[in-house]
Amino acid sequence: MAESVEESQQDAQASPEMTSKDYYFDSYAHFGIHEEMLKDEVRTQSYRASIYQNKHLFRDKIVLDVGCGTGILSMFAAKAGAKHVYGIDMSNIIDQAQQIIADNKFSSKITLIKGKMEEVELPVKEVDIIISEWMGYFLLYESMLDTVLFARDKYLKKGGLVFPDRATIYLAAIEDGEYKEEKIEFWDNVYGFDFSSIKAVALREPLVDTVDYKAVLTDACAIMDIDLNTVQKSDLSFTAPFELTSQRDDYIHAFIGWFDIAFNACHKPIRFSTGPYAKYTHWKQTVFYTHEPITIGKGEVVKGTISCAPNKKNNRDLDIEIAFDFHGNVCSVSEVCKYKMS
Ligand code: SAH
Repeated sequence: MAESVEESQQDAQASPEMTSKDYYFDSYAHFGIHEEMLKDEVRTQSYRASIYQNKHLFRDKIVLDVGCGTGILSMFAAKAGAKHVYGIDMSNIIDQAQQIIADNKFSSKITLIKGKMEEVELPVKEVDIIISEWMGYFLLYESMLDTVLFARDKYLKKGGLVFPDRATIYLAAIEDGEYKEEKIEFWDNVYGFDFSSIKAVALREPLVDTVDYKAVLTDACAIMDIDLNTVQKSDLSFTAPFELTSQRDDYIHAFIGWFDIAFNACHKPIRFSTGPYAKYTHWKQTVFYTHEPITIGKGEVVKGTISCAPNKKNNRDLDIEIAFDFHGNVCSVSEVCKYKMS
């Protein structure tokens, strides 16, 4: 998944007649966003491998594709031998998906339904397998996992499978002095004027960007492990402790977050990572700048807690708080940093 969708315009069609206003309300309607996701080979090939390498699981099964977009995952499942696939999407992109499915001769195997997963009625009572690509930046931005859990609880038969079924969020710390200077300290002096009021706002905004693995100076700490078979919506508002041990003498300017995904229902589990050590994905990594840099020595440890919860007013936004305490040889810093992804 790539970006947020506001309420979709019921009367708009995914056709050349769509206006910029329609695209504003339905950001998934334009093919460009799907192009980015489809071209993310780590993402799309992992889904394909998890399905094609497990035809024994898909053969003659009823499959539900939550947020089918262009229909790619539905077609993977149909090609793997599913008895029938139901693809649901609230965006007008589903009109294109309908054509794509006809062009690829899957119309008898795949039924597409336009609407919100939470509002549509499937023509079947239960399904054997749910497939969905719901992951947002920092995993939980956009809260589409709520939709998958809704579908699981309403339609997945007992013992049914969820693809993927495991997601883990990690935290580490990086040296990022030069870029922090450019993005944050910049506001201290703009052509001789004090713009530092914007600095506070900029600090609150996590940055989605690729991080060079060489900038990572601590080990990584898993802060959230989600089993999609059992997780509840309420578990997605969480506070977790972390401990990061420095691998060298350096300065910490930011924490970074990323996630790994696993398809453990497979005969041989398939995994991919969106971390700084792995191949590029469109999720990149998420950077959280601290107010002050931390001067840290090799072997020293930053301890803290991270809290994450959907924003109360707009549940697609994410409120994140990182509180840390550091007492090293040459420096002591304690901060409570509040961030908002929107
Ligand atoms: N499965 C496709 C698209 C993934 S993007 C692929 O892998 O390429 C996620 C899709 O979920 C978007 O097309 C979006 O419109 C849809 N979506 C998000 N929330 C939804 C909801 N509550 N009900 C129906 N569709 C939803």
